[in-house]
Amino acid sequence: MAGSPYIVICYQWNRGPKFITGQHCLIGAVLRERVMEALEKDIQYLKGVGPRRSSQLRRLGIASVFDLLWHVPRAYFNRGNLHDIGKLQDAEIANIRGTVLGTESRRSRRGMALFKALIQNDTGMIAAVWFNQPHLDGKIKVGQEVFITGKVKASYGTFDIHVSEYEILEGEDLDYKVLPLYPLTEGINQKYLRKLVLGALEEYLFSYPEILDTETREQYGLCPIQAAFRSIHFPEDGPSYLNARKRLAFEELYLFQVSLRQDKKQNLTTSSGIVHRGKGTLTSQVEDDLPFKLTLAQRQALQEIFEDMEAERPMNRLLQGDVGSGKTVVAALAMARSVSCGYQAAFMAPTEILAEQHLQALRRFYRNTQVVIASLSGATTAAERRGIMEGLRNGGVDILVGTHALIGDEVEFKSLGLVIIDEQHRFGVRQRALLGAKGKMPDVLVMSATPIPRTLALTAYGDLSLSVIDQLPPGRKPVKTVHLKTNERMRAYRFIGQEAGKGSQAYVVCPLVEESEKQDLQAAVSLYQELRQEILPELAIGLIHGRMKSAEKDYIMGQFKSGEIKLLVSTTVIEVGVDVPNASIMVIEHAERFGLSQLHQLRGRVGRGSQQSYCLLIAEPRTEEAWARIRAMERTNDGFQLAQEDMRIRGPGDFWGVRQHGLQLLKVADLLRDQRIIEMAHHLANSQSMDDWRGFKAYIDQKFKKSAEIANN
Ligand code: ADP
Ligand code: MG
Repeated sequence: MAGSPYIVICYQWNRGPKFITGQHCLIGAVLRERVMEALEKDIQYLKGVGPRRSSQLRRLGIASVFDLLWHVPRAYFNRGNLHDIGKLQDAEIANIRGTVLGTESRRSRRGMALFKALIQNDTGMIAAVWFNQPHLDGKIKVGQEVFITGKVKASYGTFDIHVSEYEILEGEDLDYKVLPLYPLTEGINQKYLRKLVLGALEEYLFSYPEILDTETREQYGLCPIQAAFRSIHFPEDGPSYLNARKRLAFEELYLFQVSLRQDKKQNLTTSSGIVHRGKGTLTSQVEDDLPFKLTLAQRQALQEIFEDMEAERPMNRLLQGDVGSGKTVVAALAMARSVSCGYQAAFMAPTEILAEQHLQALRRFYRNTQVVIASLSGATTAAERRGIMEGLRNGGVDILVGTHALIGDEVEFKSLGLVIIDEQHRFGVRQRALLGAKGKMPDVLVMSATPIPRTLALTAYGDLSLSVIDQLPPGRKPVKTVHLKTNERMRAYRFIGQEAGKGSQAYVVCPLVEESEKQDLQAAVSLYQELRQEILPELAIGLIHGRMKSAEKDYIMGQFKSGEIKLLVSTTVIEVGVDVPNASIMVIEHAERFGLSQLHQLRGRVGRGSQQSYCLLIAEPRTEEAWARIRAMERTNDGFQLAQEDMRIRGPGDFWGVRQHGLQLLKVADLLRDQRIIEMAHHLANSQSMDDWRGFKAYIDQKFKKSAEIANN
């Protein structure tokens, strides 16, 4: 029945009998499960996939047809909107299609890799320039047909184009005006993904369930779900993309609301949570041992947490505080409270570097106590692991720290009282539940620096209560942020050289290469070598990146913390949470490639001690947005202001921009940007009853299960 329009009479998701044309609909829960099954088909069995491709696709979070449909483009190429080379204006953004006449790869006098291609079509000839992407040499070749998008720059009486997106048009050329640009991984290119998606749209889309009837869709101005998938992947034009985006964002937010309401109902029917009775002396002992006094805001947050822990109702609280506000110590004190009441605590972090850092911080905080802390990471040996599992089961271990290894099946606690999840936005919503399920309704505290307006946080997290640390520890000096052009980059390194002489330490973060992790690594390695051999040969320099073994990462971080390494060259693995108070300079290469929240997180690695800190953004912003981001960073250190600025910069109809990740579990919706859609989804969910959602379970599970598998960088 695929493809052809048909008419059936059926019950559409318990909404009563309806005539529905040209779209699949379902009768009863059994059929629904079966339909989800079709979409759950393992990606490996699709035409043109197979085992190798399938493991590559899984790296992108695509394990099934369902995931493939939800793998939405990050941007698009609009081929209907090409510019004449002869009519280009300085500084405009142009789309050009043409043949490569010649290429050239070299280093600029300032040491930056330049790749140039001369491109010709029947409207003229122009030089296209790529910065810092040496891997293009050999990839873009003479005779190829290419599309490029970028900013036009006057240069020696003619024009160059500084490329921001490109596409090689070999062989197959799909006949669509607007082509999707997907997030990629090594071994998977745009063309391959496009074909795969097209195949899935043809063969499987018809069975995608429609959960909103016509009336509801009209009420909220939403298109049918199948049309939405078609247009998000291959939009006709701007408006059809926006309609598709709206429907899919609504779909996610609405399903999310429904799942929260269903979970809540379940909570009410299950038994009550853990009561942390009696204060004990552990908490005050740990607090007294701290080398500093808690801020008022930390004290207040802790008070709210303790009240929740003492109550019978399980705690479900979000601790929000800007980078550097001191959330870790609050977590440590809350765990002390749990341990002193005879329970165990679990502390989960999104990266191994962060988990290791937390382990060391806890060891420091608890150094004068009997508290037993264990950690699980990629470096844990099988024997250690067995010992830890044993200790968790018999109560010998009080606190377990680690990455998402903590939610592994074999991890069992004797009596888990408190679960803490750091940098919550890096995890999916289900992981909170998975870790929580290791105990009998333990108290749960999630922590995040992502500044979400209060109402939005409450909406997005359902029944989560909120504590805010709105104050930095005393004596912090605001980080001075300066933009340097690429030809001024040596100033940044000279400055590091000088300051290192006075005992300071610095980070250098490498340019983000979107295409693949391997290229991120290449960029890091070549920068590291350049710094060591040419720019700062006298300085002790280290390199850290996501492909290192965890033992190696620990070793390098340890050397940086102890001051043996003065300058740490890094990929974005240090983006969240890393805390080395003596580091006072953060240099970000190609800062224009990073999103605002990412820049803010990276900057948050410095300004943690009492010395003056600096953030040097080396950037050649080529779009208005990139300029706005750099200016915003120079203007303010306040994460909340930056989040609002970010919303303003990106605006609602950002058709061309690379989509910034909102919270990880949502593929389309963005909690900051889609406030109106959140309200609509909320409104619909509120107007319905549990009965309206019978049969949604398989769908909800499918939609949110993936968030349980995050990549550990
Ligand atoms: P974040 O909220 O970003 O996770 P951290 O917990 O890493 O921040 O804390 C940042 C730094 O501030 C750490 O070095 C920590 O020891 C220190 N710190 C935390 N609270 C205080 C305080 N009240 N006074 C002084 N320093 C503090
Ligand atoms: Mg932190």
